[in-house]
Amino acid sequence: MSAGVPVVPAEPMNIDGNGNNAQAIHCRFCNEIILQPHKGKSVDVGVLLPNIGARNPHDGEVLRRWWRLTNMMQFENIGFTHGVTPDGQILISPDGVGDAHGAPAPSATAPAPAASTGAPTPFVRFLSCANCDRGPVGVALSRTEFLVAADRVAYH
Ligand SMILES: [Zn+2]
Repeated sequence: MSAGVPVVPAEPMNIDGNGNNAQAIHCRFCNEIILQPHKGKSVDVGVLLPNIGARNPHDGEVLRRWWRLTNMMQFENIGFTHGVTPDGQILISPDGVGDAHGAPAPSATAPAPAASTGAPTPFVRFLSCANCDRGPVGVALSRTEFLVAADRVAYH
């Protein structure tokens, strides 16, 4: 817990009979719809999410209430930030997804690829509002696992 972080009051998570979101999920800032009802599964897992607007991915809080999706196409609208490896390095759009919001050319700061194992770089990206670009409101842990922070979105 870090001091000075604005505390967003938790809204009740209205869960349907299948454990999914009963209400549509919207951006808290501009009200853009992010997810239709019944698309995200309620999960309780501790994941560090950077604070809204944080530039350092370590400047965040561990959240426990999430909506989990397994397919990016289930989102109505979502944006992807730069990827971040588990050790906090910012990845620079390795596969061209997202990053469409005019960030300055970052090539000089791109970390060297991990060449020791030849394993693909972990796919970790933060989710932001596709309309107003505020976030992060969630995290993509892989190409088939997306978590939307239940406490950073609005329901109606
Ligand atoms: Zn928005």
